[in-house]
Amino acid sequence: MNRVYNFSAGPSMLPIEVLEKASKEMTNYNNTGMSVMEMSHRSAAYQDIIDTAEKTLREIMNIPDSYKVLFLQGGASTQFAMIPLNLLTGSKKADYVNTGAWSKKAIAEAKKYGEVNVVASSEDKTFTHIPELDKETFTKDADYFHITSNNTIYGTKFNELPDVGDVPIVADMSSNILSEEVDVSKYGVIYAGAQKNMGPAGVTVVIIREDLIGNPLDITPTMLKYKTHSDKGSMFNTPPTYSIYVAGMVFEWIKELGGIGAIQKRNEEKAKLLYDYLDNSKLFKGTVVKKDRSLMNIPFVLPTDELNAKFIKEAADRGMVNLKGHRTVGGMRASIYNAMPLEGVKKLVDFMKEFEENNK
Ligand code: PMP
Repeated sequence: MNRVYNFSAGPSMLPIEVLEKASKEMTNYNNTGMSVMEMSHRSAAYQDIIDTAEKTLREIMNIPDSYKVLFLQGGASTQFAMIPLNLLTGSKKADYVNTGAWSKKAIAEAKKYGEVNVVASSEDKTFTHIPELDKETFTKDADYFHITSNNTIYGTKFNELPDVGDVPIVADMSSNILSEEVDVSKYGVIYAGAQKNMGPAGVTVVIIREDLIGNPLDITPTMLKYKTHSDKGSMFNTPPTYSIYVAGMVFEWIKELGGIGAIQKRNEEKAKLLYDYLDNSKLFKGTVVKKDRSLMNIPFVLPTDELNAKFIKEAADRGMVNLKGHRTVGGMRASIYNAMPLEGVKKLVDFMKEFEENNK
């Protein structure tokens, strides 16, 4: 069977070049006579893999030296707890913007450890936009300000960072890390699960300003302290070795393509193709306010549930899979992460045109 175009929200497509390289090295990595999966994380060969992965990530994201890069486990969901446990060290207050299901989970977790101020929410409009932010509502002495930079389920994205003064911005970038250029120095912490734009599930990347690392709440379990992992170069315990190895190859793939700027151009071209079609279609409708549209997750609907189901089935028959939208939005969602080629989006749009023609 040929490979399909996989529009899954995550885990999602990986670059074919990376999969083929991993496949070649599967049983014998770099003449070590073993798979990376079989390798001690304390070996020189593995140390080189994790060091190179970090170095390449620093290079492509232009991460300042005053930030640590950590490769952790437990998914972005564990960060929902680690952030408050490690950062609620002053006023024990934090500001959050509620832009969807993942923000809500982050908020619920933070409420266990401190005072949470939800400064804005788009829940009343089913999260179809990024809410207006009013600086006056921000907590002046907040320990941090949390956003979900890209909302995987609803397909919205922050295009502008709020003006929070000296309060560190913490961003859940799970579904848009490495998709466009960001100025890391504007953030206190960036975190992301790997399984969309970085690699296989199992590793979570945390990029954290050094001064935010050292002072967790007393109740914080050892494994949930950033300091534990930072002091040991993400090797306090066995890290997710294979996921980090593949992520390292994805970072290299981005570098070879010309870096994040080049990937961003590709992503803009891909998203424009689909959005332009949605804007002109008489049958399909995008669900998100134009100015807040994501480059990565594009939800859209047909007029009836029957047509949605028919479209998803016929698309799958043509090798375009996982287009079903999240149950809270319905319809379809095309997740077009870095590894989705332009041809995949072209094929989708061509099929949408054909479907529209046949279902007038
Ligand atoms: N945040 C966002 C924006 C997500 O899209 C997801 C997963 N889809 C999560 C958090 C949860 O990530 P994980 O499954 O790695 O815990």
